[in-house]
Amino acid sequence: MSLPPDYHMHTPLCRHASGEPADYARRAVELGFTEIGFSDHSPMPRDDFDEWRMFNSQLDEYVEKVRRAQREFPQLTIRLAMEVDYLPGHEDWIRDLAARHPWDYFIGSVHYVSETWAIDDPSKLSEWKHRDAFEVWSVYFDWLTRAAESGLFDIIGHADLPKKFGHRPTKDCTPLYERFLTAAKKHNCAIELNTAGLRKDCKEIYPNRQILELAFAKGVPITFGSDAHKPEEVGMSFAEAIQLARSVGYKECWQLSKRQRQSIIF
Ligand code: ZN
Ligand code: FE
Ligand code: FE
Ligand code: ZN
Repeated sequence: MSLPPDYHMHTPLCRHASGEPADYARRAVELGFTEIGFSDHSPMPRDDFDEWRMFNSQLDEYVEKVRRAQREFPQLTIRLAMEVDYLPGHEDWIRDLAARHPWDYFIGSVHYVSETWAIDDPSKLSEWKHRDAFEVWSVYFDWLTRAAESGLFDIIGHADLPKKFGHRPTKDCTPLYERFLTAAKKHNCAIELNTAGLRKDCKEIYPNRQILELAFAKGVPITFGSDAHKPEEVGMSFAEAIQLARSVGYKECWQLSKRQRQSIIF
């Protein structure tokens, strides 16, 4: 029984995180982790798509930063990964990214529910006033299902992100969850327990307990991630996440290397 790997952390290249990978690694060692993974926001085909990710030309620099941390902390297993935005139509781009480096895993995340609106972007918060929560949830879970079906991802990130600012539909979302998780199981994709939700208005781990219970019933694997955007956030609230995972029945999570999966006890 040991701490599961923290597979979700960022670097300053995304322009809204601080601390070098070595600082995150140092913190992880202090906390007793034996394995972590960097999963910074992937570049888009157009660098002006938004302002919260690395530029296309910085991909090699990103890999080098992670490699440097690996050399500096040989006692810690450090995986090389990315958090890749899924939008329908971006499949070829994502395949190209996958071929550019020997990634350990890709986290597929839906932040956008249209080409222009990222639901978790604080600067676009007012957009929620014009939207019906259930409609947003419906599009979000449709795209999340397509992300799982694409076969491009090992892990699906923060699987109920639309709750971030506290917007929640009153209608029953069970059919949306069911459809997504069926796709995740069929296409052998894990979901992550992402503790960043506890630090947001929703005050809850992503995804919620209902989704996790359905995921466990279907045999969908899990990983853990702090979604750290600064070194102090590494491993944050992992005790809570582990407790939640155990309480729905999980005893194992995935360990990923060169996109190969292995179950480990946590
Ligand atoms: Zn971020
Ligand atoms: Fe994200
Ligand atoms: Fe993230
Ligand atoms: Zn994230």
